[in-house]
Amino acid sequence: MQGFVPTYLGGTSALSTQAVVGSPEIERDDVLIPASEDLVEGEIRVSILGSGLPWVTKAQAAGSVLVEVGNPELDVFVLDLGAGSLANFSGLRVPVTSLKNVFLTHLHADHIADYVTLMGSYVKAGRLDPVEVWGGGSDEPAMGLAAFVGLIEKALAWDLESMRGSIATSGAPATAYEVPFDRTEVIYERSGVTITSFPVIHVLNGAVGYRVDYAGQSVVFSGDTKPTMTLVEAAQGCDLLIHETFLPPKIFAELMSFPLEKAIFVVNEAHTPANAAGIVFDMVQPRMAAMWHCHVVDDYIDAVFEDVASTYSGPATLCQDLTVFNVTPGAVVARQAMVNPVQQATIGPSDNEYALDGKPHPNPAWWADAAIDWQSMLK
Ligand SMILES: [Zn+2]
Ligand SMILES: [Zn+2]
Repeated sequence: MQGFVPTYLGGTSALSTQAVVGSPEIERDDVLIPASEDLVEGEIRVSILGSGLPWVTKAQAAGSVLVEVGNPELDVFVLDLGAGSLANFSGLRVPVTSLKNVFLTHLHADHIADYVTLMGSYVKAGRLDPVEVWGGGSDEPAMGLAAFVGLIEKALAWDLESMRGSIATSGAPATAYEVPFDRTEVIYERSGVTITSFPVIHVLNGAVGYRVDYAGQSVVFSGDTKPTMTLVEAAQGCDLLIHETFLPPKIFAELMSFPLEKAIFVVNEAHTPANAAGIVFDMVQPRMAAMWHCHVVDDYIDAVFEDVASTYSGPATLCQDLTVFNVTPGAVVARQAMVNPVQQATIGPSDNEYALDGKPHPNPAWWADAAIDWQSMLK
């Protein structure tokens, strides 16, 4: 298997053994130009906002997946929010005001860092609607989702106060919903979209994955996990299975300069190496298998595909940032989106009115003497 060119080397195609599975109902351009294609009724469009690892690189933001559905509401869901993922979100020109349904798989830093950006900065970008956040509880309440959401809100006190009286802050609050981490359960049913959470095995109790069903199409997202039967059961009949996939331990050790024992523990005990991901894909038989949370480094791409092919023979795609999947009754199509790197956040319509909240904080007395009156100095 040869010839995969990652985007950081100029590639414009998804890294896939079969980028088109089935017969697409509509003709699509080879690359996705943001805002150039409307979702069709019955479609789920999945965009990888972050394909990478805790150690963010220019090529790969940390874990995050955007799910858009073609219902009349054009609902948008984000599954995890790793560092750098919202830069890719802006590139896709999806409205900021639509980004209010957040599903976190677990609270490792590489899946949540941009939650702070979403809660603080995206209010300044124009989000007027509060955010709803779903995620696992914990055996210890202090480690559960509700504690996390509450503490981030407290930590953003300075940020929130800085906006008062000058920026509408109706979008600042968040509501947390803890989902069960010991059983599979439907946790969301609105406007034709059903989301099911299921427990996964990842270092501590509390990690979950999600299945999104809409109009007969379904997408399953593993989050971080070892190969797990709860996922295999929850994923039955799905169209797109996005499963975490790590490099083989020896390569992982080499790339990260880790001792081999540490790499073996990380890859085999906390995660899923590519040959094991193939076993899961084989048990589920999705229309498209997507490998995610994997170093996309040109020297190792073939090794990942060879490993997954040792246990699974169906269509497989190695996710990069901005790999996009169009899931429709007729086909699953994998492409790359080409984004403008200076594309700014797109605001979009909101359910809430723009309204200022309270008065700005009074200026400290010392500012009067210290501030440079630059406007009077203009020539
Ligand atoms: Zn993790
Ligand atoms: Zn992770």
